[in-house]
Amino acid sequence: MDYTINKVEMGEEFKICPECGYQDGFHSMFKKEGDITRWLFICPSCHSIFDIGQTV
Ligand SMILES: [Zn+2]
Repeated sequence: MDYTINKVEMGEEFKICPECGYQDGFHSMFKKEGDITRWLFICPSCHSIFDIGQTV
């Protein structure tokens, strides 16, 4: 499956979608990359995927 991951520098909070302005937070997804698992966020409105640098 092919999709674009948007890298985002998080400020005080990450709640509003930078792409479409949706204000009620994000869905989560996880993606394995070698030894790390990235914690990614999907906008429920425009379905953009964001990486704010979190791993689990
Ligand atoms: Zn959005």
